[in-house]
Amino acid sequence: MTTLNLKNVWKIYEGNVLAVQDLNIEVKDGELFALLGPSGCGKSSTLRMIAGLEKITRGEIWFDDILVNDLEPRERNVAMVFETYALYPYLSVYENIAFPLRIRGMSRDEIDKKVRWAADFLGITDLLPMRVRGLSGGQMQSVGIGRAIVREPSVLLMDEPISHLEARQRARMREELVDLHHRLETTTIYVTHDQVEAMTMAHRIAVMNLGKLQQVGTPTEVYERPRTQFVGGFIGEPPMNFADCELVHENGEVLAVSPSFKVRLSSQAAKKLESYQGSPMVQLGIRPESISVSKTPMPESIQAQVYVLEPQGERTLLSVKLANGELFLIEVAPDFTARVDETIYLQFREPIHLFESQEGLNLLY
Ligand code: ADP
Ligand code: MG
Repeated sequence: MTTLNLKNVWKIYEGNVLAVQDLNIEVKDGELFALLGPSGCGKSSTLRMIAGLEKITRGEIWFDDILVNDLEPRERNVAMVFETYALYPYLSVYENIAFPLRIRGMSRDEIDKKVRWAADFLGITDLLPMRVRGLSGGQMQSVGIGRAIVREPSVLLMDEPISHLEARQRARMREELVDLHHRLETTTIYVTHDQVEAMTMAHRIAVMNLGKLQQVGTPTEVYERPRTQFVGGFIGEPPMNFADCELVHENGEVLAVSPSFKVRLSSQAAKKLESYQGSPMVQLGIRPESISVSKTPMPESIQAQVYVLEPQGERTLLSVKLANGELFLIEVAPDFTARVDETIYLQFREPIHLFESQEGLNLLY
């Protein structure tokens, strides 16, 4: 039962490598919280500071009302699961899971009770006598998790634990990890660069880029209301489309205008833009499912040329070229057909996002 608080946390490595900048995060008791971002954005550094494996350059980390900055890893009662299992290949599954208890000098009976509890919990009791060498990737990861939960940590940290598994096995492990967390109810931070993993598993997601926190929110919040252009582009597959445009005020309305399109913004959007004093040159962002397609012109529709048609079974992805050369991806029904270079007509539906050009902040957030 632990609430985790990161307050203005920085990590600067030797050589002035800025890995984490002024990070503020609260992870609630029992939450499954994802740290999501591209490789090198500071996820592992953050996790290692929480575990006590890396010194905090500046800031504070709190476990409930205890400041843990100067506590040794073993005093923090956290357990960590890595992508590489770090298991002992020639020892049995039993001995691997028992290891953290043995180094704590626990009695043999107590160790046996706990190891069997963890194995039963994970459904790997059959594996206990087997050597780790020779297990499948998924089984090894279960042993790694067994070793992490056997001492009932107050915080569980997972660093890309299933990134290396093949797609089908990964989907399976996602479900198992969610189920495990559900039964364990341990405060968990799950690091991943895979937005699908974060979106499907986590209660809340912290999106990071270049060492900076971009947004914290539920999967729905970060998808529907990205706080920055980075979040808009990183979350969602196929990704959000972007195009340069200019905000133009006309008869009390606001239009997003470019050589490719002229889009009338909703009155709510216009209202939110009233206080905006920055450059009128912004980025329009729109998701592939928010664009309608027609073979004939519609009122205020946008002309485009068919570039590639990509059937995917339950949907088809249509890539089109706008007048100014931007390639836009659109989700269309699987029975949609069109010829390459055929002219078609688009309509942008809400939600339409607008990002200012300085920091990429969403002007309609
Ligand atoms: P992620 O886990 O998101 O891929 P990391 O936290 O591993 O990111 O790394 C963040 C940044 O810090 C990267 O630029 C990385 O090269 C750098 N970095 C990580 N560990 C060290 C280290 N021990 N010494 C110097 N730089 C490091
Ligand atoms: Mg990492």
